[in-house]
Amino acid sequence: MEHFLKNNISLETFITLFSHAPNGLAMVNGPNMIIEVANEKILNFWGKTADVISLPLLEALPEIQDQEFPKLLQQVYETGIPYLGSAMLANIMEDGESTTKYFDFSYTPIFDDLQNVTGICVSATDVTEKVLSEKKLKESIFKFKELILNSEYCSAIYTGRDLVIELANDKMLQTWDKTESIIGLPLTEGVPSLVGQHFMDDMQKVFDSGENFIAKEDIALILRNGILETSYYNYTYQPIKNEEGEVYAIFNMAVEVTDMVLAKKSAVENFTKLQGFIENVPMAIAVFSGSEFILEMSNKDTNDLWGDLIPYYGLPIKEIFPEFQSTGVFDQFLKVFESGQQIEMREVKFLREGFNEDKYLTYILHPTKDENGKTLAVIAIAYDVTEDLKIRRNLSESEKKYKNLSEAIPQIIWTSDAEGRITYCNERLKFYLGEEIENPIGKQFYHLSHPQDLAQVETIFLQAITGKTNFEVEYRAFNNSTKNYVWLLTRVVPSFDEQGNVYEWIGTSTDINEFKLLQSQKDTFLGIASHELKTPLTSLKIYSQVLERVLRKSGDDKNAEYARKMDSQINKLNALISDLLDVTKISAGKMHFIESDFNFDELAQEMIEELRLDSDHQIIFNNNSGGMVFADKNRISQVMSNLISNAIKYSPGAQQIVVTTGRSEHEIQFHVEDFGIGMPDGIADKVFEQYYRVSGDDQHEFSGLGLGLYISADIIERSNGKIWVNSVLGKGSTFCFSLPLTEKL
Ligand code: ADP
Repeated sequence: MEHFLKNNISLETFITLFSHAPNGLAMVNGPNMIIEVANEKILNFWGKTADVISLPLLEALPEIQDQEFPKLLQQVYETGIPYLGSAMLANIMEDGESTTKYFDFSYTPIFDDLQNVTGICVSATDVTEKVLSEKKLKESIFKFKELILNSEYCSAIYTGRDLVIELANDKMLQTWDKTESIIGLPLTEGVPSLVGQHFMDDMQKVFDSGENFIAKEDIALILRNGILETSYYNYTYQPIKNEEGEVYAIFNMAVEVTDMVLAKKSAVENFTKLQGFIENVPMAIAVFSGSEFILEMSNKDTNDLWGDLIPYYGLPIKEIFPEFQSTGVFDQFLKVFESGQQIEMREVKFLREGFNEDKYLTYILHPTKDENGKTLAVIAIAYDVTEDLKIRRNLSESEKKYKNLSEAIPQIIWTSDAEGRITYCNERLKFYLGEEIENPIGKQFYHLSHPQDLAQVETIFLQAITGKTNFEVEYRAFNNSTKNYVWLLTRVVPSFDEQGNVYEWIGTSTDINEFKLLQSQKDTFLGIASHELKTPLTSLKIYSQVLERVLRKSGDDKNAEYARKMDSQINKLNALISDLLDVTKISAGKMHFIESDFNFDELAQEMIEELRLDSDHQIIFNNNSGGMVFADKNRISQVMSNLISNAIKYSPGAQQIVVTTGRSEHEIQFHVEDFGIGMPDGIADKVFEQYYRVSGDDQHEFSGLGLGLYISADIIERSNGKIWVNSVLGKGSTFCFSLPLTEKL
């Protein structure tokens, strides 16, 4: 070869070849590296012209002085060993500017015949582009790996048909319930629970076809914590191909959609249930889509009312019901569709050819909308309200009847809410309230009570609210029409809801003004009459006592006895008149009390002694109290006497009366127990009312005015005490009262 070159190729030919070579070529000679030859290419790399030929290398290219190249050339020159450099960085001048380039190059020593190095052949190929693109490739692979590792999605790369796990990010490892230790293993070994599922086969197909594989909401069974769990994934297998276009790996991306799939499933189940519900709900429901109102579905009730509509699915409403054209119902559909607002049409008479029965329906047209609020369809709902209407009509008729009734009676009738605000009233109340108060509904009217009665009315009403009880109250109310106060008797009954709370008060108010006037006239008359009767009675009593004494002195015991009986009858008459007088005093508020401290037991003892004189009954006294009381002593003795006298009077067949006193920390009690006729249930409180007398087989035998207990109750209440009775019909009664004890004993 050497000889061939020497003998057959001239230097010119060689230089020509040299200059046309595709890479940069130069030859440097001697220890100073004189540039003998340099082709165009290398001069370009150097950024020089042919002027540099014949110059020592470092003189020609002073800028490489501090780079590797001079040293390497020197080394080749000295050792005779060629040097091959690959992708070596060189700073060279290009268009007067320093640039960085990469070169593959070779320094080949040139020997003389004696095998001494005479020069070096420099060959350089610009590989800058290749190096940079390789660099970029490396960077992009790095970035790709980074992307995969940090991806929010489960990502992995499998290489070869064995599907060796090349890369798998944490998400993917978590999904498999594995650690990094499986990297480098075939997928079948790394995640054995996938074996037998279709994934491996699908990936083999990607190897075969080179096409992407996409799966949605696909089920995967994965062993996690020893349990084979069912999950759902959206995933892709992307083929990664080499330069020849062959698939050598698969990039797998997956995202778990289990929650979504399960939600969808339950939505579908719910929808199925809903469909079933719609089908069987006792209302007609039909769905019309779009602005043409195409019938999409209709349930059983719809088909019952309008005939089988299933054959009309897909048709616009106007074609299904041409007969409705004139009713305006289509305009209503359009209104709902355009406004997006629901419309309700109440109690519309049902129209259908050949349907004679009176039927009324309430219609609801309800828009269904997409996420942007655009109406997609109108749901038409209709339900039969014929029965409700009938009931309402009947109700309103009976309401009318009751209203007429309530207007016909002379009483004021009203209802109020729990707090006393009027919810209904008849015209009579309006008449009372006068023209200034046009509409009483929603208002309270306590303030119309006379100022002197107001507190009492409020107290009684508040007590009734707390106790949820009936109540009755007499008070004067201002009649706005006549501008007078008028006595009313108001009786009120509560109505209870299911929880037992009062939701309404039903009240009647009766004008008792006349009655009150008569009562006061009667009281005045009784007052005057009893007063007038008292004076002659007092004289009569004195005469009867004198007469008895004179007759006894004269030895006429028989007539003296008549005189004593006369005196005892005068006593009874006196007691009756006293009671009448007391009642008139109570009514007029003129019963005056002279209060003082007194020993309660002493008083009881005195009373019992006195009553024992006149009675056939044995009065047993259990004295357990021993307390002081601050009250009107005479009046309290009157109460004691009344209770004991009643006990005697109402137990004619018994021998004993038991009187007991007792005390607690704050009060003293007085009990009178008899074993007489007793009283029926439920009237215990009534006996303390004015003129009240128990009626019954036995009672009519006993004389009386029904005033004693009324007066006693008034005295005890005004002395801040309490009075009550326990009684059993045919067995006897125990009348009791209590009074507060004073501190002093
Ligand atoms: P009267 O003058 O009628 O006795 P009272 O006011 O003292 O009037 O009593 C009212 C009514 O209470 C009586 O009419 C009677 O029916 C009933 N009554 C009072 N005390 C007793 C008693 N101890 N036993 C049974 N009934 C009684």
